[in-house]
Order: sequence, then C-alpha cells, then structure tokens
Amino acid sequence: MNIVLFGAPGSGKGTQADQLKSELNLQHVATGDLFRENLKNETELGLLAKTYMDTGALVPDDVTVAMLKERVSRPDTSNGFILDGFPRTLPQAEALTAMVVEMEQKLDAVLYIKVSDEEIIKRLSGRLICRGCQTPFHLHFKPPAKEGVCDSCGGELYQRDDDKPETVRARLNTFHTQTAPLIDYYNDAGLLIEIEGEGDVSEIKARTMTAIKSLKG
Ligand SMILES: [Zn+2]
Repeated sequence: MNIVLFGAPGSGKGTQADQLKSELNLQHVATGDLFRENLKNETELGLLAKTYMDTGALVPDDVTVAMLKERVSRPDTSNGFILDGFPRTLPQAEALTAMVVEMEQKLDAVLYIKVSDEEIIKRLSGRLICRGCQTPFHLHFKPPAKEGVCDSCGGELYQRDDDKPETVRARLNTFHTQTAPLIDYYNDAGLLIEIEGEGDVSEIKARTMTAIKSLKG
C-alpha cells in the first residue's frame, strides 16, 4: 500500500505517519530525510542537488523524483511507503504520478490531515522552549509550574521565531496556496481522504485506521 500524507505544519502528521508505519509495516519516506541522506553519503544525486543548493537555487523536481525513485525501489519498501513532504506543488504531483506508473505501481490513497488554522495557531504559538536545557513546554498542553520558567533546570522559556503567531499564519498561507491545487488534483483522481485532525489523538488515529481499512476492504 502506497500512501501520500499531507497536512499543514502542526497538523499532527508525524503522529499519523508513525501509526501507519507500525500498524501497516509501511516505510516512512520523508523527503527532508532523503535529501540529508543523499547529501551525507555524497551520492550522485546528492552531489547534483548540492550544485543547485550552493547557488541558492531550488533543486529541480526531476532530481527529487530520482531520489524518491531510488528510495522506493529498495527492498524495505516492498510492503509500501508513506510519502511525507512531497509533492508540494501540482507539477510535483504530476511527476509523482508519472513515476509510479513507470514503476508499475500505484498510489492507494492521499491522506489529508485537516486541522483549522485557528487550532494550528493555538498549537504552534503555545510552544515554549527552555534556553538552558531545551525542554519543550506548551502554554495550554504542558504549562510549566511557574510561568516562563523551566521545571527541569529553572532556565528561561522562550518562543522560537517560527512559532510566533504571525509567522505561523504566513506558513499556513503558503501551505494553503500550494496545496489547494493538489487537493483538487487528488480529489479528481479519487484518491483523497480527509481525516478530521482535531480532537483526541487516539480518536484521530482511529479515524485514520478506519479510512485505510475501508480501502483494503
Ligand atoms: Zn531547562
């Protein structure tokens, strides 16, 4: 079973990927990790990607697709993969379709973990980190005993620039602009499954498994 996983930053996508990985024995293929691996091992594709990155240019989609193709050809994906971080744009989605056709495989589902912007802003902008020991806290979900102070080491808690509400809003705008055409594309292809990503984590996990089981049945 081959699945594409989508979700805004803060949607809880990683939790769902872990669940699918362990319950269905699928390989989690995150394009960020794949890039790091190819760069670290100085593969031909990694070195090619680096020539673009060194000049500040975006790595062309065909390079990323070639890395993906190599990754999903390895024996550890024989049971299927969960693709995370790709595609992000319509041309990438089309390139992915061409790749799976060429490999005589198919995508079984595109899971979209849907969470409202307000909820994501609440989740991300509540995060706090200790300057001393880096322990994470959360204003709503894991508040420190004393405001602004780390429970573990007494250090000062701060908010990362990435988690400031205006930055989160900008990241969400980018996400919506890029993914709206993808959602239409996969909806038209009959592959899109929307998972309500708000509420209790165990309920969200159950929704994901129910959706996947309905595909298998
Ligand atoms: Zn601390």
